[in-house]
Amino acid sequence: VHEELHQKEKLAVIGQMAAAIGHEIRNPLSSLKGFTQLQQERHPNGNNFYPIMIQEIDRINSIVNDLMYLGKPRDIKFEKASIEEIIAYTLSITQQQVDREGVTVETIIAGPLPPIDCEEKQLKQVFINLIKNAIEAMPNGGQIKIKVKVSAEGKLSISIEDEGYGISEENIANLVEPFFTTKKDGTGLGLMVTSQIIKDHNGELKIDSNIGKGTKVHVTLPLTQKI
Ligand code: ADP
Ligand code: MG
Repeated sequence: VHEELHQKEKLAVIGQMAAAIGHEIRNPLSSLKGFTQLQQERHPNGNNFYPIMIQEIDRINSIVNDLMYLGKPRDIKFEKASIEEIIAYTLSITQQQVDREGVTVETIIAGPLPPIDCEEKQLKQVFINLIKNAIEAMPNGGQIKIKVKVSAEGKLSISIEDEGYGISEENIANLVEPFFTTKKDGTGLGLMVTSQIIKDHNGELKIDSNIGKGTKVHVTLPLTQKI
């Protein structure tokens, strides 16, 4: 109970911060991105820093989005969406980082899959966060395996497995704590937001890891929601 209160206080602080600054940051950020993209188009052959600037703006944007998701009261609007499309979108977003880090991705979809009730934008965020973590766990490259199927219980089951450095027993318990990170430029918000979004979808998040061998993240989601 004590632990729970502590967690709630932390969340409240993040929430206030997010409410105060999130919107204020997002608008100037999107105009900054727009103008940077414009400059890049004007100098297509230049040896310039625009791609890096755009990438960094995207990074600020995703941190702000994470903070805002945690901060606002969440009233999720469930709509039918294609999980194949959500996964494909996620892979397109992470493709650059995958190539850069010498990672390969194998996707096994036991389809065709039925549509799922979800808030599409949020589920995309879940898989982007999980795939990014998998890539970041393999600084020397390796393979990510994504498996998607409908389980015997009729739920959507998605696993994301990497061959990375793994998570210690001690750290497993801290993973969804706000700001828990072992990375030098990590935010420690990714898994917290991920677990919150999954909870908001009445789903489950499980993490199995072996130090030095890799990590398997397993997400289970109901296909339909009571609306
Ligand atoms: P961040 O990625 O910003 O550090 P996250 O909430 O996404 O924040 O992850 C928190 C921590 O959990 C990471 O710093 C890392 O120590 C650990 N972690 C998460 N996913 C993995 C993974 N696939 N392999 C190894 N460690 C992981
Ligand atoms: Mg992360």
